[in-house]
Amino acid sequence: MSTDKPNFVVDSMLGNLAKKLRILGYDSKYFSSIEDDKLVLIAKNEKRIILTKDEQLSKNAEKQDIGFVLIRGNDELEQIMQINEKIKFDKFVMDTNNSRCIACNGNLQPVEKFRIIGKIPEGVLEREKKFWMCDSCKKIYWEGTHFEKLQEFASRLNDRMN
Ligand SMILES: [Zn+2]
Repeated sequence: MSTDKPNFVVDSMLGNLAKKLRILGYDSKYFSSIEDDKLVLIAKNEKRIILTKDEQLSKNAEKQDIGFVLIRGNDELEQIMQINEKIKFDKFVMDTNNSRCIACNGNLQPVEKFRIIGKIPEGVLEREKKFWMCDSCKKIYWEGTHFEKLQEFASRLNDRMN
């Protein structure tokens, strides 16, 4: 498991965690509403690790020999550390080229500025140099001011893993 990046399916109570994992480049399926059975089936069919706060669901997964992590608390950093206890993460690197779309888990592809004129605020277009587009939902990304915070988040994770 250490050579391949783990893939996740995240239960509906953990939307913020799913977003963080996507930004950090982890393929994380998330549904704001899904039946437990379906979630288990996705995990089974797609070899995804279930992240859940639901003890019953975690027991279900255990019975069927499906990888899972029972998540406690609401702090995303702590939650990721809880995952790391079971699945050793590699060092976290905040790189938008590897990020997944926070909205839909799609892949982000670099996109030329001229292609997105009129689709994002002009100020952003002038200020930023690099843009990415989700190849699935077409949402446009740029690194902007929040990028530094995310880098800081990644380095806090790395500090904790040492
Ligand atoms: Zn998307």
